Amino acid sequence: MSFHGIERRGLMLVLSSPSGAGKTTISRRLLEHEDALEMSVSVTTRPRRPGEVEGRDYWFVSPADFNIMVNERKLLEWAKVFGNHYGTPKGPVADALARGRDVLFDIDWQGTQQLAEHARDDLVSIFILPPSTRELERRLRQRAQDPEDVVAARMAKASDEISHWAEYDYVVLNEDVDSTLAQVRAILHAERLKRRRQTGLGDFVKRLRDGV
Ligand code: 5GP
Repeated sequence: MSFHGIERRGLMLVLSSPSGAGKTTISRRLLEHEDALEMSVSVTTRPRRPGEVEGRDYWFVSPADFNIMVNERKLLEWAKVFGNHYGTPKGPVADALARGRDVLFDIDWQGTQQLAEHARDDLVSIFILPPSTRELERRLRQRAQDPEDVVAARMAKASDEISHWAEYDYVVLNEDVDSTLAQVRAILHAERLKRRRQTGLGDFVKRLRDGV
C-alpha cells in the first residue's frame, strides 16, 4: 500500500478469547469493514460443525495430514486445543504481509505466544473477555452445536484461557458487539499509524520540509 510514497508493512492482528466470548462474530464484522484485512484460515483436525465451510472457517484435515504439515514446517504455529490440533499455514500469511495487507488470526494463547517469538514487531494481540461466566455459559449453550460434554469441557477450559489475558497488548470486554467492534477497529487504525510501520516516512517528511 502506498500513499505519497509511504509504504506500510502489514501487521498481524490476533484475537483470542475463551470459546463463546464472541470472537467469531467480531472477526466476521471486522472483515466486512476493513478492506485491507485478510483472515488467516487455520487447518484443524476437529470435525466440521454444521454451517462451517471448508476454506472459509477452516481447512479440515486428517491427523496424518496435519503431522505432515508440522514436519514439513508449513505451519507458522500450531497447538492442541480440546484434544484436536489447530495450526496456521505459513504461505498465505507471508503473501498477504508482503503485499502490505494486514492479517487477522483467531487463535488461542499458545499460538499467540509462538507468533510473538517469531514476529514480535508485526504482532498486535487483543484478548476479548466475556462480560461474565454466566453469559459465557449461556452463549456456549445457545450455540448448541457441540455435545453437552464438549460444552462442559469448554467451560472448564475457559478459566484457563482467561488466565493468559495479561500476555496480550490489549484487552476488550465484549458487552455488546457494536462497541467491541468499534474498539477493535480503533486499535487496528492506531497500530497502522505506528511510525515504525510506515516505511519511507522519512523521505516524505524531508520533501515536506524542503517544500517539494
Ligand atoms: P473452535 O474449535 O471453537 O473453532 O476453536 C477452538 C479454539 O482453537 C479457539 O480458541 C480458536 O481460537 C483456537 N484456534 C483456531 N485455529 C487455531 C490455530 O490455527 N492455532 C491455534 N493455536 N489456535 C487456534
